[in-house]
Amino acid sequence: MLVFKSVSALQNHINKLISERKIIGFVPTMGALHAGHLSLVEKSLLENDCTIVSVFVNPTQFNNSNDLNTYPSNIIRDKKLLQSLDNEIVLFHPNSKEIYSGELKSDHFDFDNLDQHMEGKYREGHFQGVATVVNKLLLIVKSDKIYFGEKDFQQLRIIENLVVAKKFNTKVIRCNTIRQDDGLALSSRNNKLDISSKKTAKYLFKALSFAKENFDTLDITNIEEKVNRLLAKFPQIKLDYFVIADERYLQPTLKRDKKKKYRAFIAADISGVRLIDNIKLY
Ligand code: AMP
Repeated sequence: MLVFKSVSALQNHINKLISERKIIGFVPTMGALHAGHLSLVEKSLLENDCTIVSVFVNPTQFNNSNDLNTYPSNIIRDKKLLQSLDNEIVLFHPNSKEIYSGELKSDHFDFDNLDQHMEGKYREGHFQGVATVVNKLLLIVKSDKIYFGEKDFQQLRIIENLVVAKKFNTKVIRCNTIRQDDGLALSSRNNKLDISSKKTAKYLFKALSFAKENFDTLDITNIEEKVNRLLAKFPQIKLDYFVIADERYLQPTLKRDKKKKYRAFIAADISGVRLIDNIKLY
């Protein structure tokens, strides 16, 4: 497997691929890879001539230094996992200096209010950091397609917005959320949960499933009340938000418009580990 740590070496390789008219798929990650990440990589392998995976824990998207310092990483394991999928995957594993040559700070982007609620409200500066790194990575990688998980749906919409605003010639591919058998969405942060918190964490998915099952019959206020009551039974769960919002503009609502598609979004702290998830309601 080819591994690049420097931007210039990766760019040389990419220029060669482009001159050979190879179709390039790109999967940006922060590492500590799990089956969720690997499903994106597998999709890219199927749809492109060449797949580039980046592993880079992007400091500017963390609004909490403790979260950044304790973010799980295991590059040796990540390499093995990627290699087990396909030895032709190209891994880009730069350090911070390579990506942020000057100051370690975010650029500023306008997301047309997609960042107004949910994660944008609870994690100040988070999406500016995400967009900064994805913008930098896309300028380097110049992929034909870029893969993002619906697990982070607000992030996905923000990247779709960025790609249009910056006129990147890449197609954003939405990928399904991969879950454990009990419904818990796979996340690198799950590694930080202790056994009892792992059991409790499945109630986030239960709350989302309740919303999905009852979206046609109960009104949104009623769904939110019932979900709040269900989750209040678990002292380990500190709910940041449970909202229902339209997929396009990500505006939380209490009133349903038949013409729009909706998702339920949840974020909670479980014994000190912050988890997010969402589900489509159609
Ligand atoms: P991260 O390493 O957390 O930045 O995630 C890298 C990519 O993997 C993002 O596009 C995520 O949305 C996606 N991802 C993370 N967890 C899952 C999951 N459980 N299922 C599908 N995609 C995921």
